Formats: sequence, structure tokens, C-alpha cells
Amino acid sequence: MGRTFTARVYRVPRGRWIIFPELCKGCGPCIETCPGDVLRWSQGLGACGTPTAEVDASGCIAGRTCADHCPDCAIDVDRETAKARVRTQHHG
Ligand code: SF4
Ligand code: SF4
Repeated sequence: MGRTFTARVYRVPRGRWIIFPELCKGCGPCIETCPGDVLRWSQGLGACGTPTAEVDASGCIAGRTCADHCPDCAIDVDRETAKARVRTQHHG
């Protein structure tokens, strides 16, 4: 059976920013490369017992730079398209 990981999901203006704390080893490229400077260290601990990254959700533009620079695939960014937003509204 496959292993499952806990996802911490943050609602951001253009979609969702997601971190898998069990995969985050606290190395920092996500924080260093975020163009909006909206990532910081959280109180939660990750894979190496070091703080995990978390987002200041209101400033995230969902461009995926952080996810692209994470060597451990600990971040995912789910960017909503205009179409997806319309669907979300229709289904409440
Ligand atoms: S780059 Fe990935 S593993 Fe490193 S601190 Fe950021 S989220 Fe965690
Ligand atoms: S998606 Fe972009 S703005 Fe949002 S946290 Fe990642 S790098 Fe920063």
C-alpha cells in the first residue's frame, strides 16, 4: 500500500498553496526565491525536526516559484483558472 502524507492547505487569492510537512526538511530555497517574499518559517517541525515553510496567504500570487525550487516536492501550488473559479461559484 502506498504511503500517504499530510497536506496543509492554505487558500490564496488565486488558488491554493499546499505544503507536505513530512517532506519539508527546512532547507530554505522556497523562502529565498519567492518573488513576493511571502514565505516564512512556521512553528511546525518537518522531516528533520526543523521548522517548515508556511505562506502569508494574502500575498501569494500562486506562480509556483517556491514549488519549482523545492528539492523535495514538499510544496504544491494549485492555481485556479478563471474557468475553475466559475465552476467553484456554481457549486457553492
Ligand atoms: S525548499 Fe522545500 S524542503 Fe526546503 S524549506 Fe522549502 S518547502 Fe521545505
Ligand atoms: S507561489 Fe509564488 S508567491 Fe506564492 S509562496 Fe510560492 S513563490 Fe511565493
